[in-house]
Amino acid sequence: MALIVQKYGGTSVGSIERIKAVAERVARVRAGGDQVVVVVSAMAGETNRLFKLAAQLSDSPHPREADVLVATGEQVSAALLAIRLQALGYPTVSFLAHQLRLATDSRHGNAKIRSVEASRLIEALAAGHIAVVAGYQGVDPKGDITTLGRGASDLTAVALAAALKADACEIYTDVEGVFTADPNICPRARKLGRISYDEMMEMAGLGAKVLQLRSVELARRYNVPLVVRSSFSEAAGTWVGQEDKSMEEVMVSGVTLDQNQSKITIAGVADRPGLAARIFGPIAEAGMVVDMIIQNASADGRTDLTFTVGRDDLRGALELCRLMAAEISAAGVRHEEQVAKVSIVGLGMRTHAGVAARMFRVLADEGINIQMIATSEIKISVVVNAKYGELAMRALHDALLGKGSNATSAESV
Ligand code: ASP
Ligand code: MG
Repeated sequence: MALIVQKYGGTSVGSIERIKAVAERVARVRAGGDQVVVVVSAMAGETNRLFKLAAQLSDSPHPREADVLVATGEQVSAALLAIRLQALGYPTVSFLAHQLRLATDSRHGNAKIRSVEASRLIEALAAGHIAVVAGYQGVDPKGDITTLGRGASDLTAVALAAALKADACEIYTDVEGVFTADPNICPRARKLGRISYDEMMEMAGLGAKVLQLRSVELARRYNVPLVVRSSFSEAAGTWVGQEDKSMEEVMVSGVTLDQNQSKITIAGVADRPGLAARIFGPIAEAGMVVDMIIQNASADGRTDLTFTVGRDDLRGALELCRLMAAEISAAGVRHEEQVAKVSIVGLGMRTHAGVAARMFRVLADEGINIQMIATSEIKISVVVNAKYGELAMRALHDALLGKGSNATSAESV
């Protein structure tokens, strides 16, 4: 008998028909003798619909009340799925976050999980019940409802799988797994059979939307084996886990594209200690995530500082930068609103030389200008004009991962 945590995303539970289909799938696993904990997202579009309702009433709804509102989406789908499973004859009990003491801090809208008490789930499973849990929500020390950030039902599922020491955490979605690139942009993208936590974290952080970043981090920390698969088919899905030797043989596992970036340059900053800290301190305090940062001192003792931010943060970041530039007597602030970040990810980059050169050659052959470059041990990212983002992704995918290239087929790992 295994203990399986299954998470179903919004499209998987997006209608009454879909909830019936999910119930059949859960019932089959239970009928096979395994214990099942199901985590659900809100029905597709529901969380956005709720946020929009609030937006019609206030320009800045209080985050505490916004959480009370948006957490209802998952409550609805949890109850509906439990009702259906019971109708099929399977004893089932639904749980909201407070009933599991899924404790978080008080950062409404983006709360961090502190602890989970597995005891009620364990009791329910021992009694032969299926447990259905509302994802995305938590409860803070005051007992107030919090939410864990957009897409964070994945995180709920991984946290429960870790607390229960589950045998697997299956993430059901509307695609058949993790792909080598976005199939909507790259027709030749292929499903990966397996991928390491590290690669998945890079890909999730770089724009692949299939898994929420924090959930992969948590899975890695607690060594929770993840499987990403479709609730619309029986296809095997992608396994995400610890790396093994064969994974290093694959030079590039995936190409990602984030088209939602902007670039800011603070020009002519004096080249002395403390100025980068002065600039980035207030930006971090405002909760804006700065990504690639490039600084290069020139001979005249001045430096240009260029970095990227998510496009939603551009206006706020520009305001802060202009203030700061005046304070530190920088020459000025420039920005480019529409840039894209294209990245290649692969464990094999640790051992294969020349990957960056190949990447730059592919972009050069397409006539795409590279504006910024950043690397880590297992990824190389470039910033390009947003117009060329999709072209860059396709070209890189087909050159480095397409059939006939000397990169090992990702599917064969
Ligand atoms: N319903 C939430 C959202 O849309 C959480 C989730 O779906 O994972 O962000
Ligand atoms: Mg999701």
